[in-house]
Amino acid sequence: MRDIWGEEAENQRELEIRAGEYLSSLGYESVRLPSIEFYELIAAKAGPELLDSLYEFKDKGGRSVALTPELTASAARFFATKLRDRPKPVRIWYVGQCFRYDEPQRGRYRQFTQLGAELYGSASPLADAELAFAAAGILKRVGIAPSLKVGNVGFVKRFLTENGAKESALGQILRAADHGDYQPAMEAVQGDAKAFLKDLEGNPQDLEGWLRREQSPSRKKALKELAQIVELLKAMMPEAKVIPDLLFVRGLAYYTGFIFEAFSSGLDSALLGGGRYDNLLKELGGPATPAVGFAAGVDRIALLMKHPTQPVTGTIFPLDEHSLTKAARAFSALDGMGFELYPSITGAREAMSRALKASHRFVVLAGELDGEDAVTIRDLKKREQQRVQLTDLKQILQEADRDAPREGPNERARHGHPL
Ligand code: AMP
Repeated sequence: MRDIWGEEAENQRELEIRAGEYLSSLGYESVRLPSIEFYELIAAKAGPELLDSLYEFKDKGGRSVALTPELTASAARFFATKLRDRPKPVRIWYVGQCFRYDEPQRGRYRQFTQLGAELYGSASPLADAELAFAAAGILKRVGIAPSLKVGNVGFVKRFLTENGAKESALGQILRAADHGDYQPAMEAVQGDAKAFLKDLEGNPQDLEGWLRREQSPSRKKALKELAQIVELLKAMMPEAKVIPDLLFVRGLAYYTGFIFEAFSSGLDSALLGGGRYDNLLKELGGPATPAVGFAAGVDRIALLMKHPTQPVTGTIFPLDEHSLTKAARAFSALDGMGFELYPSITGAREAMSRALKASHRFVVLAGELDGEDAVTIRDLKKREQQRVQLTDLKQILQEADRDAPREGPNERARHGHPL
């Protein structure tokens, strides 16, 4: 029973707001998906690892259901039933609760939040690049410069099956490879492929080199596709680290082509991951629709958000019985600017001491001495005090904050400055 509170909760909320605004600006429509799903739908494509960790049960009507372990399958159900006739591409984003019976550790929980986006109806590499760009864009908006690991699961799957691995063993081999264990892959392939795999393991990042050497047309096609996406990503975000990894696979069984994950220093595990899944919609009984998407781990990203949100910058104190209305007017004038209202009558001295203890910068004192329409503000940072008309209060405090702004991306964004 994991409660999330304080800075972590603030960061998660901040992330969800920023990411939502950003994705909406890129044309993604918001959808709220249920936290419970038909077992059949999840089981169809989840892969053994996810199935092992599923919270599944029969509901009171005898239906087999499960708590959602991820939301791509539910989003696909939603698309196939509600949006299938829309002109393509269709873009959606969501945030929702996920449940996996994992071994809990830092950044890995049994209940966590995923924020994801999916694009349906395009097989273009430009769509793959868009999704990876949007995923990195979300991280950028909360002050994280990620490195992107990219691969093509089609390349790995074809390499294995074209060299003797059985289709039925693929899941288990890929699962091991996802955990960095290539032994089952090595045992499954035959002849020259063993040496090839060994070489690949030693140098999985040399996309251009392997592209030159690759003989199999289908694998060459997969590598070319990846090279093109890398080129697009470099054009879209020249500053980003984009690292190809030809042996990269992802745990989920439905990926068919491009896959990616984002990392940042401070956490070993991926902050988000996604890729192309061109067969899932059809396999779930929907219309054949190419698709690409990603899911970001809100809990993990929130752990790395550097600047704790400090939404409160000052407090408004009523100093006497007659000034309650004035305090209320000041509170209304400063709505949304990070001012809280102290609900009881307080002496000026105690007000100061409370503000200092809470590390607030401003104190607004509403008392009789200033007359009906004015208050006293104290800037604890600059150690200045002035009498201000209620009508000027907002502007004066905005200017004061601009002269000596608070630090951090959260605050900068709140005041409308670009990051
Ligand atoms: P996946 O659905 O496995 O592709 O995971 C996508 C993202 O969800 C990961 O990159 C993590 O950030 C996050 N995630 C997955 N499993 C967990 C978990 N047990 N606890 C917290 N975050 C998770």
